[in-house]
Amino acid sequence: MYHKTRVRFAPSPTGPLHIGGVRTALYNYLYAKQQGGDFILRIEDTDSSRFVPGAEEYIRETFDWLGLPFDESPAKGGKFGPYKQSERREIYKEQVKKLLDSGAAYIAFDTPEELEAKRAGIANFQYDASTREMMRNSLTLSDGETQSLIEDRTQYVVRIKIEPDKDITVSDMIRGEVVIHSSVLDDKVIYKSSDELPTYHLANVVDDHLMEITHVIRGEEWLPSAPLHVWLYKSLGWEESMPRFAHLPLLLKPEGNGKLSKRDGDRLGFPVFPLEWRDPASGDLSTGYRESGYLPNAVINFLAFLGWNPGTEQEIFSLDELVQAFSFDRCSKSGAKFDVEKAKWYNHHYILNTPDSELATLFAPILQEKGVSAPTEKVTKVVGLVKERVHFVKELWEQSSFFFVAPASYDEKTTRKRWKAESPDHMRSLMQLIREMDDFSVENQEKTVMEWIQQNQLHTGNIMNAFRLAIVGEGKGPHMFNITDLIGKEETLRRLEKAINTLTGGEENI
Ligand code: GLU
Repeated sequence: MYHKTRVRFAPSPTGPLHIGGVRTALYNYLYAKQQGGDFILRIEDTDSSRFVPGAEEYIRETFDWLGLPFDESPAKGGKFGPYKQSERREIYKEQVKKLLDSGAAYIAFDTPEELEAKRAGIANFQYDASTREMMRNSLTLSDGETQSLIEDRTQYVVRIKIEPDKDITVSDMIRGEVVIHSSVLDDKVIYKSSDELPTYHLANVVDDHLMEITHVIRGEEWLPSAPLHVWLYKSLGWEESMPRFAHLPLLLKPEGNGKLSKRDGDRLGFPVFPLEWRDPASGDLSTGYRESGYLPNAVINFLAFLGWNPGTEQEIFSLDELVQAFSFDRCSKSGAKFDVEKAKWYNHHYILNTPDSELATLFAPILQEKGVSAPTEKVTKVVGLVKERVHFVKELWEQSSFFFVAPASYDEKTTRKRWKAESPDHMRSLMQLIREMDDFSVENQEKTVMEWIQQNQLHTGNIMNAFRLAIVGEGKGPHMFNITDLIGKEETLRRLEKAINTLTGGEENI
């Protein structure tokens, strides 16, 4: 075993990274950092037919946004590189040769048609110890025949030779020891002469070994491949340094029946990708967590809980706290149901805990889009007043537009209920009171207005409701004097005047 914990996230750039992949990467990160180890990005791009342009860049951007830096990666380099499998061809060829020389693998020339014919003729046909003797391969052909076929450039594949009747043990940190009987495995193709590239299985194992990976942490969908990977490790003579495995539970649909898909996201209105993605082939745009207004730390906290729990009531964890608390003992074996309300809840919490100045920076582009230019100091104060009402940064505008622009209209229902026959008179008196105020601070406004209400035996609710309608245009918003403080005395007077001139409503008038 190696001294240092080294884990890898090994995506294939076949499309946008799914949020489940982000969770896999996060668990890798948490475990590596807890153990003082390394977190490595390896791009598994040996299947060129499935390559999607932009997918690798997307992965990099995702982890930059989340703030989960790799210790080694294609961009950053490292002493175990290259970190892209398409740049490691020679390395795999060498290992294929080793397997062929030792007899742990063999060359097969069967054409797709020949394989098809066998499948059609033999029920449950599988290329393995029971059938390989009847196929066209280096075990059934003479050395000379094999050699001359290769020299004639006949296309071939290399297959791993699985010995029957052996127990293969996968040691999984979440599932315990998983024992598989080798007879259920087939002689998987590990290399193809057509593109001179290994298949996923071989490249994955060779790289895990050469990159000194100590723990393979990946999605449950790879569990069926694990026995083959163990077999490959043994066949290559690397048993001593075999990594430990952790196969993470599936992310399930919110209803719990089946794997979470993009369609579920579209149907229920939540993103399944970390960042926005435009499909290069169809041009279709899918939204991402970032563009939907999720904060990176909220996404991290939320994802950490999809398949793991700390065993306590605590739900809010900083990244450092997650690093400390994470353990495979507390990962579940069964699938984790995706819960969009919980995701929103987390985001709300993180918004509340983000400094107002930072939120103001995030809000700035939205204000710009709305054609509003306001001093940062004001935006910061506004954000502080309304943030408890939002789940997302983009909702800040809806909750605060009246701080920046006067209402263009007045909500009908509120007007009917709150603008009484006497409201114009009251608001006129209020305007006079405001005009005379030298000190327009929140405290002084409050004191002066409340005294005036008392002295004139007015009804606080009636006055304040009409006042709010004039300033905000509807019945919502934070404390009135916080609003008027920020829009200023002149604007307050302007809005009152406009309301008096515009609104003649009130129950009595309908
Ligand atoms: N390339 C595989 C994937 O796309 C890697 C699986 C693994 O981590 O071994 O997920």
